[in-house]
Amino acid sequence: MATDCLFCKISRGEIPCQQQYQDDQVLAFYDINPKAKTHILIIPHKHIPSIMSLEEGDEKIMGHLIRVAQKIGKDLNLVGYRLQFNVGERGGQVVFHVHLHLMAD
Ligand code: 5GP
Ligand code: ZN
Repeated sequence: MATDCLFCKISRGEIPCQQQYQDDQVLAFYDINPKAKTHILIIPHKHIPSIMSLEEGDEKIMGHLIRVAQKIGKDLNLVGYRLQFNVGERGGQVVFHVHLHLMAD
């Protein structure tokens, strides 16, 4: 948990979002500035700043993000979609709380 992190605040319900899915480990919500017809962000509740800062033991939660993406794809009847992590400022990352972009046109 990080006090000043935007996605931690969304995860705690302090900032509203259009939620798509939630369980004890992750939250999925619609991107506020969609770059595709369907653009959902899937985040761990745990504050992990970036793929670059993953630690031993984070494999499980990162794998779960992908399983949740699969579930969302199925639930929304998406015939295909893109999954993307932006990693580091030079990789286009703006919010430093790990998030998986799910985008479908
Ligand atoms: P990044 O560039 O860090 O990989 O992606 C951050 C994403 O978060 C962007 O696509 C941006 O539109 C989205 N975003 C930023 N602030 C908010 C917010 O307050 N609410 C929601 N739902 N999405 C946000
Ligand atoms: Zn955070």
